Amino acid sequence: MDKKIYVTQPSLPPKEEYFEEIGDIWESRIMTHQGPKYTQLENGLKDYLQTSNIFLFSSGHQALEIGISALEMTGEVITTSFTFISTIQAILRNGLRPVFCDINFDDYTMDVTKIEVLITEKTCAILPVHVYGNVCNVEEIQSIADRHGLKVIYDAAHSFGELYKNRPVSDYGDMTMYSFHATKVFNTVEGGGLVYKDSELKQKVEGIRQFGQILFTDEVPYIGTNAKLTEVHAAMGICNLKHFDEYILLRKAVVETYIEELKDIPGIKIVSNHPNTKFNYSYFPVVFEEKYSGVTREMVFKKLGEESIYARKYFYPLCCDFEVCTSRNIIADVPVSRHVSERVLCLPCYSDLAVDDVRRICGIIKSLY
Ligand SMILES: *Cc1c(COP(=O)(O)O)cnc(C)c1O
Repeated sequence: MDKKIYVTQPSLPPKEEYFEEIGDIWESRIMTHQGPKYTQLENGLKDYLQTSNIFLFSSGHQALEIGISALEMTGEVITTSFTFISTIQAILRNGLRPVFCDINFDDYTMDVTKIEVLITEKTCAILPVHVYGNVCNVEEIQSIADRHGLKVIYDAAHSFGELYKNRPVSDYGDMTMYSFHATKVFNTVEGGGLVYKDSELKQKVEGIRQFGQILFTDEVPYIGTNAKLTEVHAAMGICNLKHFDEYILLRKAVVETYIEELKDIPGIKIVSNHPNTKFNYSYFPVVFEEKYSGVTREMVFKKLGEESIYARKYFYPLCCDFEVCTSRNIIADVPVSRHVSERVLCLPCYSDLAVDDVRRICGIIKSLY
C-alpha cells in the first residue's frame, strides 16, 4: 500500500469558493487590519458561538497568551500537563508559574478532586483543557474558582463547535481560546479566537493584539504585540464555516466506525460517552492497556507505520517533562497523566478520511490481537 494516511488532514472548501472569496481583496486592496473579511468572519462566529465578546487572532496560541495578559495576574496557574505545550508557554510567557493538576481516567480532563489541594495564596487562575473535545467538569471547576476567587480560562483548541448543556463551551469560564489552525476542526489556515466574559476587556484585548494601541486613536496604553488575523486567512474561515456542519458529520461517521470496530476488544480503551455534550469528533484517541492483552501502544504505532499509517502519540511526552518545565522545578504529581501519556495513540481522524480506510486501520490493529 503506497497511500500514506496521516493523523489528520485539513478540511478545505471547494477551491472555486475560496478563490471567489479572496477575489474581493483585489478590489478592496485591504489585506489586514480588521477589514471586511475579518469583520464578516467575526460576525459569523459571534452568531455561531452566541456571543458578542470575541476577537480573532493570528493563532490560537496568541489568543490565549494575550487573553491571559489582559487579566494582569501574578502567581500560579493550575493547569494540566496532558496538553500541547502551547498551553504552558502561554502561562510562562506571562511570567506566571504553571502548577500541574492530574487528569481523570474517564475522559483525560482535569481531575476536579485534585484541584483544591494545589491552591495556595499565590494561585490566581485555573486553566483546564477540553482535551480531544472532551468537555471538562465546567460546573465543579467554576464552583472551586468561586470559592477561592480564581479566574477560569479554558483552552478549547479542540472544542470548536461543541455545546455543553445546549450552550457553546465558551459560555463557561472567564475566557475561552479556540484554535483555527489547519489541523483543527475549523480552520483559517492559522488563526484563533478568544471569547471573554467581561465586556470591559474589549479595548484592552483588541489593543494588545495591535501594538498596545487603542484602535483608530493615537493612544498607546498597553504593552502589546502584533497578532492580527489577515483578510486572506479570514476568507478561508468564511468558507470553512459554511461547510462546518458537513465536516462534523463526516468526522462523526469516521469516529462511529472506529467505535463499532474497536469497542469490544479487551485492552482497548476508548471514550465514547459524552454526557450533555454536542461533540465535534475532533480526535480519536485510544489507550492501549497492555495488561489485558499484551498489546502495547508501541506495537500498534509500529505496525500502523509499516502500513504507511501515521498515528500520533498525543500527548507524549507530558508537558511537565519538557526542559522548559524541568529546568524550573515545576512539581507535577500526575500519575494518571503519566499512565495515559505512555499508552495513548491518536488514530487518523479527519473529515475526508474514507470509512473504508477506517476499517482497514482497525483490521491492522485487530491483527495484533
Ligand atoms: C493547537 C493547540 C493550541 C495552539 O493553537 P494554535 O492555533 O496552533 O496556536 C493550544 N492548545 C492546544 C491543546 C492545541 O491543540
